[in-house]
Amino acid sequence: MNPHDTSLHTATRLTHAGRKGKSHHGPVNPPLVRASTMLFPDCASLQDAYGTRSCYGRHATETTMALEQALCAAEGAAGCMLTSSGLSAITTTLLALLGPGDHLLMVDTAYDPSRQFCDGLLKQIGVSTTYYDPLIGAGIASLMRPETKVVFVESPGSLTFEVQDIPAIAAVAHAAGAVVVSDSTWATPIGWSSFELGIDVSIHAATKYIVGHSDALMGAILTNEALHARVRATYKQLGMSIGGDDAALALRGLRTMAARLAVHRDSAQIVARWLSDQPEVAEVLYPPMPGAAGHELWKRYFRAEYACGLMGAVFRADITQQQVAALIDRTRLFGIGFSWGGYESLILPTNPQSYRTINPQKWAAPMLRLHVGLEAVEDLINDLDTGFIALRAQQETNALACAA
Ligand SMILES: *Cc1c(COP(=O)(O)O)cnc(C)c1O
Repeated sequence: MNPHDTSLHTATRLTHAGRKGKSHHGPVNPPLVRASTMLFPDCASLQDAYGTRSCYGRHATETTMALEQALCAAEGAAGCMLTSSGLSAITTTLLALLGPGDHLLMVDTAYDPSRQFCDGLLKQIGVSTTYYDPLIGAGIASLMRPETKVVFVESPGSLTFEVQDIPAIAAVAHAAGAVVVSDSTWATPIGWSSFELGIDVSIHAATKYIVGHSDALMGAILTNEALHARVRATYKQLGMSIGGDDAALALRGLRTMAARLAVHRDSAQIVARWLSDQPEVAEVLYPPMPGAAGHELWKRYFRAEYACGLMGAVFRADITQQQVAALIDRTRLFGIGFSWGGYESLILPTNPQSYRTINPQKWAAPMLRLHVGLEAVEDLINDLDTGFIALRAQQETNALACAA
């Protein structure tokens, strides 16, 4: 299959990309190759392979190449590089595109470890970072400097889910000679047309929906034609690589991603609406929900078919952290843990206020993050309902304690 055959629908491309064509006689899936050393029959063939990706297991195997091809097809990218985690995909890309004296515009709602990299290693090597308001849009022009080389976007943002006007930001960045790098994990490779929106490098924590089963960590860097060689040079110098077993797990996950996302999307809509109806909840942060913050921009830039299952909830200011903990601890089906994008539902208290620089006071009330998994949504709602009963019981305990 031609991976860039856009006459085929997304779900079709996900099932066929990175596989042999119909005339192939053999297994459905590409072979699972575990390899460090590649052997050559003689010195002449060693010489021919030298410097190519087929000379050593760190550079490529049939399994990792199949995954790269499939991901390129899924997102319409020119090139793909696979790393050991989502975070290493982000750090590799920033190291490739920034050097001493350069300036980075980083969205304030970026995944916290991405910020720690900017404030840590990037600062040490002489790259300065300015955090900007995710809702800045074309106003980003006022923050651009002659040495600004990268504008980093993450939409919706981590924990608070603001939707960014990426085409407006990209127009300003490109006019000034800067490139746009995106943490596209929430969107997944199929949730939007990243490169058409003006993104130059689209990064995924493949750990989430691509792997999809909470059993492997992986990052993917998807690039346009112009930046591929530059990012790959740094990727190669850093020695980034993934194993065949993890690549096979990610390929298996990718085949069903469109079907899974459709269920995550439908159940998440129901859970988001149910949460909005709870009197203790001040706001549900889920841009695909009509009326939610960012919904209009989300409709403009994302594909409605493939919204994911990750959302936030902000409680009323009089609800305590203790009450939220009572809710979380009481649920049976929502696991307490980091990461998301697997088949299972998760719940986590969040505190974006603790590390943001733009308007942190906006997030003073208790918050939580929910990943709506593939369980029957009726069971998830019942489980949350039990949690809210525990939250309310805690409220009464608080009131009694105050009266005493
Ligand atoms: C989880 C996550 C990452 C990091 O992925 P890992 O594979 O855990 O390193 C990066 N960005 C976002 C938005 C994430 O949610």
